[in-house]
Amino acid sequence: MTGLHERLAPLLLDWWKVHGRRDLPWQKDPSPYRVWVSEIMLQQTQVPTVARYYDRFMAAFPNVTALADAPLDQVLHQWSGLGYYARARNLHCAAQIVRDEYRGELPSQFDVLMSLPGIGRSTAGAILSLAFAQRWPILDGNVKRVLARLFNVSGWPGSTKVAKQLWAHAEQCTPDRQVAWYTQAIMDFGATVCARSPDCGHCPLQMHCEAFRADTVAEVPAPRPRRNRPRRTTVMVLVVRDDDHAVLLERRPAEGIWGGLWSFPELPDRAGLVDWCLQKLGSVPCSEQVCDTVSHSFTHFDLDIQPIRVSLPLPVLRVMEPERWLWYKLRQPAEVGLAAPVDRLIETIGES
Ligand code: SF4
Repeated sequence: MTGLHERLAPLLLDWWKVHGRRDLPWQKDPSPYRVWVSEIMLQQTQVPTVARYYDRFMAAFPNVTALADAPLDQVLHQWSGLGYYARARNLHCAAQIVRDEYRGELPSQFDVLMSLPGIGRSTAGAILSLAFAQRWPILDGNVKRVLARLFNVSGWPGSTKVAKQLWAHAEQCTPDRQVAWYTQAIMDFGATVCARSPDCGHCPLQMHCEAFRADTVAEVPAPRPRRNRPRRTTVMVLVVRDDDHAVLLERRPAEGIWGGLWSFPELPDRAGLVDWCLQKLGSVPCSEQVCDTVSHSFTHFDLDIQPIRVSLPLPVLRVMEPERWLWYKLRQPAEVGLAAPVDRLIETIGES
C-alpha cells in the first residue's frame, strides 16, 4: 500500500465537504431502494439527465412492490429518455425477485445483491456503501479514470489486466469509516474535477497524482482500442392511419436490441413491402414515401434505418394480436416504451 492509498479518503472528504454534490434527488432519504434505482440509472447516464427523470420514476414506483407489480410497458415508458432499456427490464425483473424472495427488502449481502439482474460488482459496492454504510469499493467509469490517473495505470480499463489493477487500488483506497461519504466524494470528484478534461490547475490531489507528475494525464486512461464497427441497414414501415392519426407499432422480442420496446415493423429491404402489407393488413399500399435515413449507434454496430411511409386504402384492417401489435395514437399516446429512433420518427410524423 502506498501513502496515497491511505491519504486519499481524508483528502477527498475535505474536498467533498466544500465542493461535493449534496442535493441530488436520490440523496434525500437514501433508502436502499432509492439508492438502488439511482445507481442503475447512473450506470450509463450522466447525473444531470438522471436528475431530470429520477423523481418522476420514483413517483410512479415509490417502492419495490410498486415497481414489481407494474406492467413492464409502464416501467419502460417511465424509463423513456434514459436509454439502454435493458437496465429497466433488469430492474423490473430484480424487483420481482426482491418482492417474492426477500419480502420486498433489498438484500444487504454482497453475493446476494450481485445475483440480482443488472447489479454488477461496482453497483453492488455502491449500494452497500451508500445505503448500508458497509465498506465495499466501487469502480464505475469516473472512479476508473480517477484511480488510473492518480496511480498512473496505463492501458484500457475495460481489459481484464487493467481492471484488476484498478480494483486493487479501489480496494486499498476505500476507508473503514465514512465510507458512504467517500464513495460519493470519489464519484463527484471524477465527474467534476478529474473529468474527461481534467481541471488539474484546481485539483487538490495534484501533488499526489502520478500521472500529473509523469505528464501522462492526456494518455491515461487509454481509450478503448479502435475496431471497425460494422454497419447494418434495415427498412422500417411507417403505416399511418390518417382517420385517427395512429401509427402501427410492433413489440420487439424480449431479447436483442430494443428488447420489449415498441418499434415500427421492420423488413430486410423494400422489395417485400407490398407482400408484407397484403399479409399483415389485407391491402396493398396506395402510396409509398421514402423518408430521410435515420442512423443510430449501438455499442457494437451502427444501424441505418430507411423509413418508408405507406398509406393504405381505408378501412385499414384493425384486428391484430394486441400483445404484439399496437395502433399508437399520436394524439393520445399509450404509455409504452419506444425505441429511441422510433420516438424521433413519430415526432416527424406528428409534424408532417
Ligand atoms: Fe486528475 Fe489532474 Fe487531479 Fe491528477 S492532477 S487527479 S489528473 S485532476
